[in-house]
Amino acid sequence: MAQLTTTTWQQKIEWDRAHIWHPYTAFGKGPEVFPIVGADGVYLTLADGRRIIDGMASWWSVIHGYNHPRLNEAAHAQIDRMAHVMFGGLTHEPAINLAEALVDITPDSIERVFFADSGSVSVEVAIKMALQYQHARGFPEKHRLLTVRGGYHGDTFGAMAVCDPVNGMHEWFSPMLPRHFFAPAPRCGFNATWDPEDIRALEELLSAHADEIAAVILEPIVQGTGGMRFYHSQYLRELRRLCDTHQVLLILDEIATGLGRTGKMFGCEHAGITPDIMCLGKTLSAGYMTLAATLTTADVADTISARGPLMHGPTYMANPLACAVAAASISLLRESPWQERIADLEADLRLGLAPCAALPGVADVRVLGAIGVVELEAPVDMVHIQPKFVEAGVWVRPFGKLIYVMPPYIMQSDQVATLTSAIARVIGESCA
Ligand SMILES: *Cc1c(COP(=O)(O)O)cnc(C)c1O
Repeated sequence: MAQLTTTTWQQKIEWDRAHIWHPYTAFGKGPEVFPIVGADGVYLTLADGRRIIDGMASWWSVIHGYNHPRLNEAAHAQIDRMAHVMFGGLTHEPAINLAEALVDITPDSIERVFFADSGSVSVEVAIKMALQYQHARGFPEKHRLLTVRGGYHGDTFGAMAVCDPVNGMHEWFSPMLPRHFFAPAPRCGFNATWDPEDIRALEELLSAHADEIAAVILEPIVQGTGGMRFYHSQYLRELRRLCDTHQVLLILDEIATGLGRTGKMFGCEHAGITPDIMCLGKTLSAGYMTLAATLTTADVADTISARGPLMHGPTYMANPLACAVAAASISLLRESPWQERIADLEADLRLGLAPCAALPGVADVRVLGAIGVVELEAPVDMVHIQPKFVEAGVWVRPFGKLIYVMPPYIMQSDQVATLTSAIARVIGESCA
């Protein structure tokens, strides 16, 4: 058995490369990994002492920046009381405080909370809720889902089955996945003139198969991992109406959009609609600990409960440490001028990324809220491009044709400028 008896970072990294799986990687392939020894504000500190500006917010989660005194304090205070207790038959203040905050900030009719361990699990729970709800109403044959192409909802089996069937990163498993209905991805852009044709195909699928469909699931306004596309809010308004007409639930996966990222507290607010079930994750604990939640209406919760229990209950459900940090994070967000900050970030990202549009190899540049995207004509070579960003003093992790940033909300204009000019420079050098 290999043992870690090494001392230098070079040796530790070699051990890492030989033994530890990183997300979506094969051993011995792919770009190098960089050792991080600290994180503070918008900076990551590399083992060699360099500080780089983090444009990814650790997969979009770290909204207040790293090592935040208020969040640290919440974690310290809670760990000195209790790190964890089971949630079966027991409850605690961190869970109650967080649930209260979530019921308060989500749309009015969202008032029941289920805590889950990760975004993917919150999607699994949302799917179970939808199926149990239709079953309880006497429609057990409504057990399939409808979604749009270009979506991403997580890596577990239930969630995978509603990811984009082509670029959902899961094609090996397709023979084992339940068959759901896929409408084309929304095409009409966030700022475009609404084209009613955009939702026609979904409408047809829904009316043809409503007797089999329990729920529609999609990411509101922003299709994230499936392509970083921003679509029209009218799409969601039409969808809400169609779901009501056909007695199908609407599940909105707000794991990426929730808690301010698009300039509204929740993506659904752009359309002024309320989902029946809402998934939160990523930003929920501000990047401190894994935590997610599935929220729903009294109608859905009570209909399910009239027939029996909701069949889910993870071991670390409502972990007090995670809940305490999440509750502190939501307080911090609400006390902060987050709308202004997101508006400033949006302006800074527009300004900073605009020059990319003229570069060879760039297909599109788009910005919404604190999300900046440069879409290239061809997929990037990660092995080549990833170290270049680090050399330029920034942490940007592209995927496919997309070079994008979702910075912490506290990022200052000069830091955004450093980030965006590094992106323009690296694209200029790499695609020239
Ligand atoms: C990240 C993400 C998920 C999955 O969350 P995990 O915590 O990685 O399981 C699901 N849906 C959306 C929209 C996401 O962005």
